[in-house]
Amino acid sequence: MTAMLEVRDLEVAYGKIVAVKRISFSVEQGQVVSLIGTNGAGKTTTLRTISGLLRPTSGEILFQGQRIDDVPAHDIVTMGLAHSPEGRRIFPRLSVEENLLLGAFTRNDQSAIRTDLEAAYALFPILGERRKQPAGTFSGGEQQMLAMGRAMMSRPKLLMLDEPSMGLSPIMMKRIMTTVTELQKQGTTILLVEQNAQAALKRADYGYVLEVGKIVVEGTGRELLVNDDVRKAYLGED
Ligand code: ATP
Repeated sequence: MTAMLEVRDLEVAYGKIVAVKRISFSVEQGQVVSLIGTNGAGKTTTLRTISGLLRPTSGEILFQGQRIDDVPAHDIVTMGLAHSPEGRRIFPRLSVEENLLLGAFTRNDQSAIRTDLEAAYALFPILGERRKQPAGTFSGGEQQMLAMGRAMMSRPKLLMLDEPSMGLSPIMMKRIMTTVTELQKQGTTILLVEQNAQAALKRADYGYVLEVGKIVVEGTGRELLVNDDVRKAYLGED
């Protein structure tokens, strides 16, 4: 079976700084896969390279069996791979609805876009209630919901989430993580990047631990949650 996403020997550098050092991993259809690691481990760089915003210095990225490491970023979205970036990057002056519609920029099926807008409002009712308000008036957690809703508007087969729990209260974080499970049930495959290892591994079918640009441990979410090294380094246990 072909993996939905396959990353082979990926290396990414910023000038002389090699941020990602020949990593390999895969995401199977229907899975939630978590990539965890501390600040500077190379998680964001990996996601930005997969979505075509950065180019690798070596290695290959295959999406549904097709090489995408030299495909323009907007074509990667059209193929079905969406990215909800770190720090959310919503457009503060645009309304909630305008932000969501930007996520559908690759599509022209107007009636299906309306249906998906309603689906986003069903998933996150606060977005529907405040659809005409400028997105900049939203709290961090609400902006995170908006960023996820926007990424969903491209109808992705694979959704990449970069630190969706960053800066959120425990309640908000729980909401976001419940949504990850909900989206998986609806058939979306998810690559979840998190510093919050506990939350990310609990929901993961499979996980990888990244340390200074290298994958140091991998296993099922459950295996990693009980792994001694992972517990010491990422779950704050001694
Ligand atoms: P964080 O959780 O803090 O975002 P991360 O795991 O996502 O961390 P990256 O942002 O991918 O890590 O950074 C990996 C390495 O690349 C770090 O050493 C970082 O300083 C470096 N780096 C990231 N962006 C740039 C850049 N634009 N120019 C130079 N170095 C960079």
